[in-house]
Amino acid sequence: MLKSQERESDLHIQSDHPKTILIVDDEKSIRDVLIAFFVEQGYDVITASDGREGIAKFQSHPTDLVITDIVMPRVEGIETIRKIRKQSNTVKIIAMTGYVDSYLKDALLLGADDSINKPFNTEDLMAVVDRVTAG
Ligand SMILES: [Mg+2]
Repeated sequence: MLKSQERESDLHIQSDHPKTILIVDDEKSIRDVLIAFFVEQGYDVITASDGREGIAKFQSHPTDLVITDIVMPRVEGIETIRKIRKQSNTVKIIAMTGYVDSYLKDALLLGADDSINKPFNTEDLMAVVDRVTAG
C-alpha cells in the first residue's frame, strides 16, 4: 500500500523513470561508467560488485530498477535475478552480459524484464530502461 502511494506521488513529481537504480557488476569500470551516466540523468544509484552484495543491497534499499551482470563471482546474475524477483513482483530488472545469448534467455525466464548484450553504449541502455519502465 505504502509502496504504491510512494510510486504514485513520484509520478506527479517526476517523469515515469525509476528513481533508484541498483547496478550489480563485478567489473569496476562498468560500475563507474553506469554510476556517472545515471547520476547525471538524475537517478539515485546504488552499486554492488557481485550477486551476494546485490541481493543484500536490494533488501536494505528501496530500489525501482536493478541492472545486473550475469557472470560474476560468488553469486552470479541468474541466481541474483531469481532471488530478487522472488522478493518483488514490481521491481524492474535488466540483465546484461557479454557471454552467450542463452544466459540472457535464462535471465528472462527467471524474472528479468529485458536484457542487453555487452558491449553497449549508454544510449542503447537508456532505450532498454525506457522500454522496461514504460511496460
Ligand atoms: Mg562479469
